[in-house]
Amino acid sequence: MSFPAGKTVDKRDNSILAGLEPAIFFGFFEELSAIPRGSYSEKQVSDHIADFARARGFEVYQDEIYNLLIKKPGTPGYENSPTVILHGHTDIVCESDEGVDHDFKNEGIKLQVIGDFIHGTGTTLGADNTVGVAFAMSLLASDDVPHPPLEVVLTVQEEVGKGGAQHFDGTKLSGKRLLDMNWHDPKSLFAGCAGDISVRFKIPVQWEPRVSEQTALSLRISGLSSGHSEFDIHLERANAIVQLGRLLRIVIRDTGARVAEVKGGVNRYVIPGEAEAIISIDASRIVDLRQRIEAEAASIALEYNASDPNLKVTVSESGRQFTQVFSAQSARALVDALNLLPNGVQSKSLQVEGLVESSNTVALLSSDEEAIEIVNTVPSAVSSRRYNIVDKIRQLSELIGNGASVETFADCPEWPYNPHSRMLNAAKAAYEREFGEQPHVEVSHSSLELGLFRKKVLDIDMLSIGPEAFDVHTTRERLNHTTVDLTWRLLKSLLRELRT
Ligand SMILES: [Zn+2]
Repeated sequence: MSFPAGKTVDKRDNSILAGLEPAIFFGFFEELSAIPRGSYSEKQVSDHIADFARARGFEVYQDEIYNLLIKKPGTPGYENSPTVILHGHTDIVCESDEGVDHDFKNEGIKLQVIGDFIHGTGTTLGADNTVGVAFAMSLLASDDVPHPPLEVVLTVQEEVGKGGAQHFDGTKLSGKRLLDMNWHDPKSLFAGCAGDISVRFKIPVQWEPRVSEQTALSLRISGLSSGHSEFDIHLERANAIVQLGRLLRIVIRDTGARVAEVKGGVNRYVIPGEAEAIISIDASRIVDLRQRIEAEAASIALEYNASDPNLKVTVSESGRQFTQVFSAQSARALVDALNLLPNGVQSKSLQVEGLVESSNTVALLSSDEEAIEIVNTVPSAVSSRRYNIVDKIRQLSELIGNGASVETFADCPEWPYNPHSRMLNAAKAAYEREFGEQPHVEVSHSSLELGLFRKKVLDIDMLSIGPEAFDVHTTRERLNHTTVDLTWRLLKSLLRELRT
């Protein structure tokens, strides 16, 4: 299959995307991009879509957290076909570059087209998942696309633990075939994914007074490659929080330094690229500390030379004022946890070559007056492995003692690959008819909302498709606009195939 060449963009009427095809899709994409819609702030976009659907006479159900269900009858000849659920999420990840002042609560995304790609301007684009919502609106608005009865489900809070899908009332659905539009590769069909669960590991802090003559230092590890904790976990990149634990073990064991504060990571689904500890040490021990840290940092840099070439460890004076430090026991518990928590790939699939089956990412580290908190995200394609990893983490908390505890949240089941899926086989046939070749079939270690729909609707058959997008969740996020038409063609062809 060859991708059409990029188009020259027509900027009439202040539209950035005018001239891109399919025009109906890009019209909705631009309209949605203008509406602020970070997670938990979906009311405005939800109301906008609800009004749009009601104006066309469709049945609309909006729940109290602004999830939407919109029903459109089948077109002539498809009235009695099995209903198709079309799914996307309305919230987007709100990230901006350093120095970019973007008010995500009140401003939409400023789009720009560079060659074949649509970008934000110093911010995330939100193609994840404006794409899905724009396709759904395109189908709702169309009167020339034959399709079975549609149930359009647009969820909220996907990017913060899939809260919308958790909350959504599955009994409102009559369809058993679900097409999700949150995939990022037009040449493949997405046919299964891992589930995931988050684990909060807490260690209550006991404090001791700080020796006031001591020097406060910042021990910092930065410049790591980071990445998505599910899509990139197989790359075996260094985890800043885990490596900080390794350095802290030396600091505490060999130099008598005390720890006052720790922090690291940005999001439950990101491999941490930076972490820092504030420590307190006798001035006479600083040279020794620097030497030991340098030696260990050199080992770490060598080990991760291929994956994290810009990894950097620094020890610098800290301006932080504090009068107390973690007790020796609390610091020991912290170091044990950071060094012994499972991290990275835990098992690989024996069925799909190269696919990671289970992993853990030690994703967030923080401390306050009460406790040290370490948040882990555990994706796994097999539930029992997921819970087994959680249980290991719990066992570690029991071994560490000192009041350490484990609490789980955002438990999302997996969506297992089924080669006999009607949706998958219909999509394969539609793809071949449209493009004259076979699509790839992808099963992923990432976790989507679809596992939750599997729990809500008995025997649901699901598939996910979408145009090409890169670096979602980052300010480098970009959508290849030349691939949108391929997904639109596949979508229309698949809906025809699903007449029976
Ligand atoms: Zn996302």
